[in-house]
Amino acid sequence: MGSYKDQLETRFIHASTHGNKENKTGAVNVPIYLSSTYHQENFDTFGPYDYSRSGNPTRQALEQTIANLEGGKTGLAFASGMAAISSAFMLLSSGDHVLISKDVYGGTYRLITEVLRKFNIEHTFVNMTDLNETCREIRPNTKVIYIETPSNPCLNITDIEGIVKLAKAHGCLTFVDNTFMTPLYQNPLQFGVDLVLHSATKFLSGHSDIIAGLAVTKNEELGERLAFIQNSFGSILGAQDAYHLIQGIKTLGARLTQSSDTALKIATHLNDHPLISEVYYPGLSFHPGHPIHVRQSKGSGALLSFRLPNKAAAKAFVEHIRLPVFAVSLGAVESILSYPATMSHAAMPETEREARGITDGLLRLSVGLEHVNDLIEDIDQALEAATQLRKEKRILLKHRG
Ligand SMILES: *Cc1c(COP(=O)(O)O)cnc(C)c1O
Repeated sequence: MGSYKDQLETRFIHASTHGNKENKTGAVNVPIYLSSTYHQENFDTFGPYDYSRSGNPTRQALEQTIANLEGGKTGLAFASGMAAISSAFMLLSSGDHVLISKDVYGGTYRLITEVLRKFNIEHTFVNMTDLNETCREIRPNTKVIYIETPSNPCLNITDIEGIVKLAKAHGCLTFVDNTFMTPLYQNPLQFGVDLVLHSATKFLSGHSDIIAGLAVTKNEELGERLAFIQNSFGSILGAQDAYHLIQGIKTLGARLTQSSDTALKIATHLNDHPLISEVYYPGLSFHPGHPIHVRQSKGSGALLSFRLPNKAAAKAFVEHIRLPVFAVSLGAVESILSYPATMSHAAMPETEREARGITDGLLRLSVGLEHVNDLIEDIDQALEAATQLRKEKRILLKHRG
């Protein structure tokens, strides 16, 4: 494992192979161990592995890597971000209660409202940017406070340390979905958070090629409990995908740094355009969460959202944009444009969506590695098309009137 004294960018490269005793060949890459079972040394001596649901050397190299990067004790790799999140919630029991950020990822919203409910696990959605409101909603049976910061898609910022203080005072665990920031920019365990979760499908793997999830615990005891669930529930990451994720992580530092630089330039540019009423990006000094974000994170990331006047304008923009793919997901080498109302947040009823600011004019952009000038030029021509459409509509309405 890469030494903890090295910078993260260095550990991204070396954490998976340094000190790996399995490596007898000197191969610079972690081998892909395609083996479901392992020959036992003899009748009553067991080796380090017995069955790949319980442990696989390729997966283990990845699990040790993410534990190293997040500065935690136990890392675990799952078949998807939702598998990691679902497994984490299996630490709870019937009758427990969880507090969750209001603008949580759509899949997490669906898990909590439709699946956990069946197991009698109660929940309350709160505006976690407000510590007083969060404190008021803590109940005697509250066991977990679940944070997403920055949140999706409006990039609201939650004060991680503030929530951890509240949680510790009330004997609750804190979970943080760190997908948007990655360990490069935000290390929630440092602030006393108990469990960090990732959709590694996004920035960590970075190439829109695999679905994967990761979890890291601050202490060993919680790590053992979650490893028990990982083995019991069985939603593990396969060895091939574990390998791809290890390779993706190696370039995370370079990718996210460039994408974040570009995202700030685009956010600033969008903010000056007359057709856009709002731009959400935590790197903008006037973003309401900016002061807290810069205190707890080292960067602002590659995700931003902006609001066009209505659905017709959003549609025109999407139909004219040339470079970003129009798709769900985020955190890849290619820029990805999405329409939260019908894509990432389709699982949410309309009234819930509107209350969270996910209106019909909102678009989310995950900035990739294309040249910043090409992206800005492309955005400008798509905005021009949306503006023209609006002008034509106005003229039409005038003539009708
Ligand atoms: C995508 C995503 C998830 C779910 O992860 P999958 O890998 O798609 O299962 C969870 N949280 C956030 C913030 C995400 O963006």
